[in-house]
Amino acid sequence: MRLTKFTDLALRAVMRLAVSEQDDFLTTREVAEVMGVPATHMAKAVTRLQHLGVLEARRGRGGGLELTGLGRQASVGWLVRELEGEGEVVTCEGDTPCPLRGACRLRRALRDAQEAFYAALDPITVADLVTSPTGPVLVGLTGHRPD
Ligand code: SF4
Repeated sequence: MRLTKFTDLALRAVMRLAVSEQDDFLTTREVAEVMGVPATHMAKAVTRLQHLGVLEARRGRGGGLELTGLGRQASVGWLVRELEGEGEVVTCEGDTPCPLRGACRLRRALRDAQEAFYAALDPITVADLVTSPTGPVLVGLTGHRPD
């Protein structure tokens, strides 16, 4: 099982915003910068997270991205499911569908394994992800925020 780059970017953003102080919100560009990813890619991830209710944007002076209460307590399993979508880990259908697709034990086993992967992430919250040692490292990544 391998996460898409999009999901990884979104999780990086969520973790960084989970350690933001009330008076120090970062913009999308700043989050992208401290997490070492292109701003255009991060913007797409931030938009999706806003639609999920995980983030909201504060406008005006001192504004920026803020994790919502839902986002802070969100299950990582739920979040990864939402970001990854309904796709399977193998391509059984499509332009050249596999002849076994209607009666394949491997397909069933892979679906079960995929669900087990998500289930392992279900008890973990976003807040859990930023406890030590991760949280202090994330805070240290804000040092070169532009004025
Ligand atoms: S062998 Fe099974 S799992 Fe693999 S592509 Fe075919 S239907 Fe899907």
